[in-house]
Amino acid sequence: MTRFAWGAASDTGRVRQANEDSFLVVDGLFAVADGMGGHQAGEVASHLALESLQSGFTAAGTDVLVRAVEDANRILVERSTTDPELVGMGTTLVAMALVEASGRDAIGVVNVGDSRLYLLSDGNLAQITEDHSLVATMERQGRLTAAEAAVHPQRNILTRALGIDGTVLVDSWEMLPVIGDRYLICSDGLFNEVDESRIAATLRRLADPNETCRELIRLANEGGGRDNITCVIVDVVDDAGRDPKADPANRVRNSHTGGDLTVPEPPGADPKPTRAPGVLRSSFTWRVGVFIAAFVFVILTGFAFIWWTGTKTWYVGVDGDKVAIFHGKPGGVLWIEPTLAEDSELLIANVPRSAVIDVQNGVEQPSLESARTFIDNLVEQNLKASTTTTLAASLGASTSSTTTTTVQ
Ligand code: MG
Repeated sequence: MTRFAWGAASDTGRVRQANEDSFLVVDGLFAVADGMGGHQAGEVASHLALESLQSGFTAAGTDVLVRAVEDANRILVERSTTDPELVGMGTTLVAMALVEASGRDAIGVVNVGDSRLYLLSDGNLAQITEDHSLVATMERQGRLTAAEAAVHPQRNILTRALGIDGTVLVDSWEMLPVIGDRYLICSDGLFNEVDESRIAATLRRLADPNETCRELIRLANEGGGRDNITCVIVDVVDDAGRDPKADPANRVRNSHTGGDLTVPEPPGADPKPTRAPGVLRSSFTWRVGVFIAAFVFVILTGFAFIWWTGTKTWYVGVDGDKVAIFHGKPGGVLWIEPTLAEDSELLIANVPRSAVIDVQNGVEQPSLESARTFIDNLVEQNLKASTTTTLAASLGASTSSTTTTTVQ
């Protein structure tokens, strides 16, 4: 008969004002939920989800566990649509339970969101659940490395959560209980602050599940404690409390007597969900919505800015052999070419030499009026210059004539 020993702890962390995580530990059913939503809504969501899970888990089957999660989702959606205080609330949920499969004990696992279930087996830590988050999706698509995903600014954006949509896709697994295996259920407040090698070392080092949970929380707070932290540890122990490591035959026998159950994957191997996890399906959470809205806003603002600079600005340049006024930026902005607004009578040949290069490159002006004034100034400078030249020329001529006269 499969028996468990367990411990749990939860902490607000060092930054948040309230703890929106909840956990459930009753014999044979263990879960963590990480709630979200304004005011008290996150707390309500995670608490309500676990309450519904417990009352819906009426028989020891993985399918019953899945239905209990689906029912919890419906209850959350109902509450958030009828209570204005709770609009937009949602929660993650990961649970493991002792179930029966083909007449044998099994561990049923369900997951929605980015809280996690890890398994420490023979000293190796493996993540069993798959995160339903934007960064995890990008990582699976090869667009982010694990290291980039771990520090990505959008790593808290979920692609699936309870309480958002009337239907929810629940991932589920059935594991073979193996004596000596240690399961860890935790919220992201743990693994975002403590790297997995450190989590594994702590799980190996400390025996008592409660003490181990408290130590993991201490490490998460030491790492920053920027989120609520919740840990539930479940050890698979035999009824006589024997040390499984001293009796390796136990493990082999259990593996082979598992009936239809899958022998646990070697650590690090991909877990096999009995339902394919959907990618971004029924998963349009409010966090995704806000992210997309912000993204669209930035893009539109960018386009508006380019359009404005490309069309609502002025400059004085050259059109053929004349000085002219153009709409837009000299040389254009991206795909927006400048357009001719009006020609002037001033020939580029008559522009004062000091201003020719500037005009050829385009001289930006704040308005059409100032562009006209700029050209008027050029005309005026040209007139002055030509008067001076004429004057100098006539003066030069009379001097020469005087000289000539003198010589004569
Ligand atoms: Mg969290």
